[in-house]
Amino acid sequence: MHLQSLGAALTVTGSAHLLSTRDGPVLIDCGMFQGGEELEARNREAFPFDASDLAAVLVTHAHLDHIGRLPLLVRRGYRGPIFCTAPTAALAETVLLDSARLQVEGFRQDLRRARRVGREADVPEPLYDEEDVHRTLALLRPSLRFGETAQVGSLRVTPQRAGHILGSAYLLIEVDGERLLMSGDLGNRESGLQLDFTPPPPADAVLIETTYANRTHRSLPATLAEFCETLHQSVRAGGKILIPTFAIERAQMILYTLRNLMEAGEVPRIPVFLDSPMAARATHEYFEYGDELIPPVREALQNGEDPFRPSTLHVVATSAESQRINRYDGPAIILAGNGMMTGGRIQHHLKHNLWKPSTSLVIVSYQSPGSLGGRIVAGAETVRIMGDEVAVRAQVHTIGGFSAHADQDDLLAFLSSTGSPRVWLIHGEVGVMEDFLPVLAQRGLTANLMPDHQEVDLLSTTFPSGRPPGTPESHADARVSEGGE
Ligand SMILES: [Zn+2]
Repeated sequence: MHLQSLGAALTVTGSAHLLSTRDGPVLIDCGMFQGGEELEARNREAFPFDASDLAAVLVTHAHLDHIGRLPLLVRRGYRGPIFCTAPTAALAETVLLDSARLQVEGFRQDLRRARRVGREADVPEPLYDEEDVHRTLALLRPSLRFGETAQVGSLRVTPQRAGHILGSAYLLIEVDGERLLMSGDLGNRESGLQLDFTPPPPADAVLIETTYANRTHRSLPATLAEFCETLHQSVRAGGKILIPTFAIERAQMILYTLRNLMEAGEVPRIPVFLDSPMAARATHEYFEYGDELIPPVREALQNGEDPFRPSTLHVVATSAESQRINRYDGPAIILAGNGMMTGGRIQHHLKHNLWKPSTSLVIVSYQSPGSLGGRIVAGAETVRIMGDEVAVRAQVHTIGGFSAHADQDDLLAFLSSTGSPRVWLIHGEVGVMEDFLPVLAQRGLTANLMPDHQEVDLLSTTFPSGRPPGTPESHADARVSEGGE
């Protein structure tokens, strides 16, 4: 069983894994590298295979770091099927069209700047455009169903619920009688929205994500209590309450939580503005596929209620409406993207409010150190937003518990029913994976860090101490990193 990782090897981003099969190579996920210039430059590298030679593509879920390079694959000649679950296909449309729009807008902006200094030839083309995305969407085969085995050429593929985001699956792949489990991203078993992952069957080899393999999340009740207390403090401060949110899963989770807290009288019914068209679109899919969600959400949907609609919710459509929120006086909660504040409508809300001591900025998701959010969390006194210098005088609150990823206990629970497979660690920072190795060894499991761009026999290749040659030294930072959505 031969496999080569072309992304999410020794890092959390750019998931792409190439499995050799009798029918030709099969690619599992084709994600974008995100998180700073150095990583993002890797999106432009050539694939180490001819896209038209691939026998098939399998997709685990619709996050950009798992599907973001699919349109590039199609631009470079792939015309075969892309298998996924139905909700993944629905969310992929929203995610990829947004990505293409950002690529093209970014390109135009860079070009305008470069023209002023006569350097337009240096500006790289967008990775892809909307047309590439439409050609990609036409190849999606949303035929994978949890618990049902599909024949993909000579492979038998059984997807199971991963409990990470809507539609997310892990895959049992049977190749000539050998069994490989590909975890994709696994959910936090206390997500508060998604049902838990299905316990996996025994396998010969497991590729497992390790985003949070060296830590334990705060419990859901403690996280909700902290969120509630933060909202009270923020309402007392009297200004706007800004919550930067990723459009898929985190936005729905926060809307659902706000609705519950307001209905229980634990938070005053102040206006809530959902200022993210992408989140509003993604929320529709949660109605369509409510059977993946925890019983109270599912039951509310079955009763015709909207669990993602606090009674004071205003869904903001146009950017003119978004601008008008600035004129609204008094406390209000504004949910806007993007989650790391590196672009999107959250930026103009920050520009108008971050310098006011009455404003509260409530951070509910990971902020990479290089992002605007990361600089604010690190205590910057001023930040540059849309070309202007803005003082950070708002109260900044960070709530760490709303994770969509498995923690160490969840990962060990996942592995506990797989027998004694060979374990390959992917989708994690090197330092985090190194912390996880002895924990696995204690349980009698043989584990290796998956090398980058190097084919391994999943059942026999071994590296001394689990680290492939050339593994970069782990940074101290990596041990507290929370990358990879
Ligand atoms: Zn994910």
